[in-house]
Amino acid sequence: MTSAAKVYLVGAGPGDPDLITLKAIKALQQAEVVLVDDLVNPALLAHCPQARIVPVGKRGGCKSTPQHFINRMLVALAEQGQQVVRLKGGDPFVFGRGGEEMLALRAANVPYEIIPGMTSGIAACASMEVPVTHRGLNHGVTFVTGHTQDGGPLPWQALVASNTTLVIYMGLQHLPEISRALIEAGMSADMPCMVVENGTRDDQRSVISSIQAMPYEAHREEIKSPAIIVVGEVVTLAKRTEQAPDWQHSLQSWLNQAHAA
Ligand code: SAH
Repeated sequence: MTSAAKVYLVGAGPGDPDLITLKAIKALQQAEVVLVDDLVNPALLAHCPQARIVPVGKRGGCKSTPQHFINRMLVALAEQGQQVVRLKGGDPFVFGRGGEEMLALRAANVPYEIIPGMTSGIAACASMEVPVTHRGLNHGVTFVTGHTQDGGPLPWQALVASNTTLVIYMGLQHLPEISRALIEAGMSADMPCMVVENGTRDDQRSVISSIQAMPYEAHREEIKSPAIIVVGEVVTLAKRTEQAPDWQHSLQSWLNQAHAA
């Protein structure tokens, strides 16, 4: 390995190509090889015209590259002395398997650096003017996957009891089960819910409804992946869109209920 060789695990941000860090752009500008996920906006590759681009994503009808193969490729490229960027959608450590790649590099004694990115769960909320936390409405925010590795259930009762905004990644396929599980765990069927497809991209779409009606509404609007599901009273603060009910009117009663509970 030459002394220059290094692997950068880089967050590409949520989709809007301006929502990437300067540090990420600098890494792209000096990269020799860039391994790209399919959630990454291809416009970002304009920052690395000199680099060899290796797509390793899951979409586009192709089979995804197995994770262990990506891990080995990162190590092998660094051992050849290359400057490598592994460009991942959002933040590499938020449901991005960046941790696995880091551990593979660590085990092989390959120098690496993590460059965080803006995660889609926060950015999609911001684009809809939804603060993920809001004093008086909740105690925090919980990022959760809607699709566990072993298919096992999530701790729904604890999630409902936490009184945090739930930001659910990879949940669209399981929206009916998620909705049912949250209500069975004690969440009000009227709890505001928002789904954001292609957050921060030009083709962003969103639906706002209740947790009970959302599976139907999202299906009716033909919402597709990638999409973030947001559950919590903060959704009442969303900017008005065609589909959004007029939550502002009911906000005060939500606050009253929350404080009475
Ligand atoms: N590391 C990424 C998440 C990867 S998991 C991040 O930090 O954002 C993939 C899931 O992320 C998708 O199933 C979807 O739930 C979400 N996602 C990624 N990009 C998105 C976008 N632009 N809009 C909405 N959801 C997105």
